[in-house]
Amino acid sequence: MSAEGLSSSSDFIRAIITEDVRAGKFGGRVHTRFPPEPNGHLHIGHAKSMCLNFGVAEEFHGLCNLRFDDTNPTTEHMDYVRSIQEDVRWLGFDWGDRLFYASDYFEQLYQYAVKLIRKGKAYVDSLSAEEIRAFRGTLTEPGKESPYRTRSIEENLDLFARMRAGEFPDGAHVLRAKIDMASPNINLRDPTLYRIRHVSHYRTGAAWCIYPTYDFAHPLSDSIEGITHSLCTLEFEDHRPLYDWILDECEVACHSRQIEFARLNLSYTVMSKRKLIQLVDGGYVRGWDDPRLPTLKGLRRRGYTPEAIRAFCDRIGVAKRDSIIEMAQLEHAIREDLNQRAPRAMAVLRPLRLVIENYPEDRVEELEAVNNPEDPKMGVRPIPFSRVLYIEQDDFREVPPPKFFRLSPGKEVRLRYAYIVKCVDVIKDPHTGNPVEVRCTYDPETRSGLPQANRKVKATIHWVSAAHAVPAEIRLYGPLFTKANPAEDDDKDFLKWLNPRSLEIVNSARIEPRLAQAQPGSRYQFERLGYFFVDPDSTDERVVFNQTVALRDAWAKIEKSPNK
Ligand code: ATP
Ligand code: MG
Repeated sequence: MSAEGLSSSSDFIRAIITEDVRAGKFGGRVHTRFPPEPNGHLHIGHAKSMCLNFGVAEEFHGLCNLRFDDTNPTTEHMDYVRSIQEDVRWLGFDWGDRLFYASDYFEQLYQYAVKLIRKGKAYVDSLSAEEIRAFRGTLTEPGKESPYRTRSIEENLDLFARMRAGEFPDGAHVLRAKIDMASPNINLRDPTLYRIRHVSHYRTGAAWCIYPTYDFAHPLSDSIEGITHSLCTLEFEDHRPLYDWILDECEVACHSRQIEFARLNLSYTVMSKRKLIQLVDGGYVRGWDDPRLPTLKGLRRRGYTPEAIRAFCDRIGVAKRDSIIEMAQLEHAIREDLNQRAPRAMAVLRPLRLVIENYPEDRVEELEAVNNPEDPKMGVRPIPFSRVLYIEQDDFREVPPPKFFRLSPGKEVRLRYAYIVKCVDVIKDPHTGNPVEVRCTYDPETRSGLPQANRKVKATIHWVSAAHAVPAEIRLYGPLFTKANPAEDDDKDFLKWLNPRSLEIVNSARIEPRLAQAQPGSRYQFERLGYFFVDPDSTDERVVFNQTVALRDAWAKIEKSPNK
């Protein structure tokens, strides 16, 4: 069954939780968590996880924690912690007073490990990392037991305490669970629980020189927080038997139920933090908030709204099978949202002069333009009209191809909110032969809003008044990659699929005068061009716009001709 069209209330996770609540499991409580590792910035895949975890908690009148899963001291940072909190809030989620860190549980986790040793369920192994790997076996061959597996409980307790005390160098020993070296599930072949690492942790500093593995820390952190439903992505399905073993052997009070779902993959981009870091560090994009990235900071700077991202996550739903969601679906969500909320404006990206020969030289009219036809409450605005205008170069063809209904010699178009004009001449650059000025006449009877204005022409085009318009920088974005799945088969070479034309900076643009004051963070629909977001790079002198999305879906075309 396709995930499409499933409303959020009917997915398999919510069905399981509904049943657990009905059966009185966990006393009817629902408590979830969103557990990012502070080793990178959040992306839209994390948004899917947040929408699920915070969403489920709210729907079942439960709670959702924010927990930093920070057990790896070498890659984690306070900067990421702050940035993640900012992004979670921006998306509209609230963890209340439930902000937790796995690193706060280091002492408790240590005590659980000691408990396992006392029960004879964990041992200190002194094989090297390579030996442990070699002893692990393969999918078809069982593993081999370490010669240290039979150490006495006393010796294990002593060695583990001395590991903690810092008596041994990195790699000298590890603590392993004693499960089954012949298990068909490799995760159960005496997995490592603790490693010696003489490195400082961004929160606990030098307090520890042994660190728990993710597999040991994660289920126990869930249990410590009383998490009832531990929702995670599919790659952890094979770890579930290990988590269940750990929770059973540690005899925890709360044994969370893990449910796996498919991670979000989006076409024409990459989602793994490792790959995103390569793009940022390699200078292939301008930073973590580059509007071409699927990071929440990038999407925000592109002009995405939290509402659109949440609507998208809701629409794609959660499923049990991995798939790639079309970028067009994400764009559809933002178009729907901005169509309702973005005021309209006129901007000309690649200007071509249009002179109205029969319009008085010194005359300026204030015409009335509608701010948002979807929302009459947004009112109207005046726009200046005069003898010399700019139109898009694309809206004029000296020799029109078939079905070209815009301006060409002898033809008429309507200028949006203004008059019908007719092209009477074209002036060309003597060297290139390109049109540099279109000469027109206008029909004063056809002003928009006048009773006689109903004369029909086949096209309406946008324009700005040359003397009044202000210059702006416009950044247009294409897909970051030229291949729908650039990371296919974990392609190490995914960078070769980067789209050299993913960013186009248009410096020639002219915008309606009132947009000179547009505030960073505001959004507009440029008529016929798309939705645009005022970038924080804007200054008092020059407004910078990011194109959020074109007005119509351009993907269908790209899919047909990938080399275009
Ligand atoms: P990455 O592979 O990008 O490094 P991660 O899983 O290591 O991601 P975490 O910080 O551990 O990143 O993720 C926090 C939570 O978000 C986890 O519960 C994880 O399963 C979930 N998550 C991460 N990526 C996705 C995704 N693409 N779709 C859905 N959930 C995701
Ligand atoms: Mg992870």
